[in-house]
Amino acid sequence: GRKFLVGGNWKCNGTIEEVKKIVTTLNEAEVPPEDVVEVIISPPFVFLTLVKSLLRLDFYVAAQNCWVRNGGAFTGEISAEMLVNLGIPWVILGHSERRSLLNETNEFVGDKVAYALSRGVKVIACVGETLEQRESDSTMEVIAVQTKAIAERISNWDNVVLAYEPVWAIGTGKVATPIQAQEIHCELRKWLKDNVSPEVAESTRIIYGGSVNGSNCKDLAAQPDVDGFLVGGASLKPEFLDIIKSAT
Ligand code: 13P
Repeated sequence: GRKFLVGGNWKCNGTIEEVKKIVTTLNEAEVPPEDVVEVIISPPFVFLTLVKSLLRLDFYVAAQNCWVRNGGAFTGEISAEMLVNLGIPWVILGHSERRSLLNETNEFVGDKVAYALSRGVKVIACVGETLEQRESDSTMEVIAVQTKAIAERISNWDNVVLAYEPVWAIGTGKVATPIQAQEIHCELRKWLKDNVSPEVAESTRIIYGGSVNGSNCKDLAAQPDVDGFLVGGASLKPEFLDIIKSAT
């Protein structure tokens, strides 16, 4: 089976004091064991070391982005090698906020995924459609093109998690219904089966993101193709623990 995975994407939020407070809450929580749910906390770059140094050892840390290749004259960027050097095992790539606000293309995201994996950093790769795309019935086409740009560039999916994050559900309070999420997760898994391999389709975790909270997580988690969550706003609040617990 696919182990449930819950990621907390803090986005561009937090102060040193807030980080310490959230980590204390996480550290004191009673949650299902690591073989039942994999918990990944993704603070802004500047807090990675602090979070890693304070966080319980059964939770893991992810960066929210990294540069497409090795380091050098790339002002403001952070390389996958640096994440390895800090002992950060995961990175989130292709988040819709970076695709839309920073113009990251499918190809660029695919290159980033391939490079991070080549350095031994595990990847949560995000895909998802806008409201306009959903309303014009092109959801699966958009997601397929986004996923294809990744699939063309990698050969091993062991360290990849796909996050389906419909843009219209991110930060809006408009969560996808369990049926809507299941439909796309199932289609995306079928896409993997047809375009990568049945084994990769079976083993790759597809997690949902977009307005997940402590109350809607349980019904979403019950869907057979929903293998976990990527949580934004609620990952900064105590209800994140309820989302972790929805694994069981
Ligand atoms: P919200 O949970 O705040 O909607 O954000 C989802 C998200 O973008 C996680 O990466």
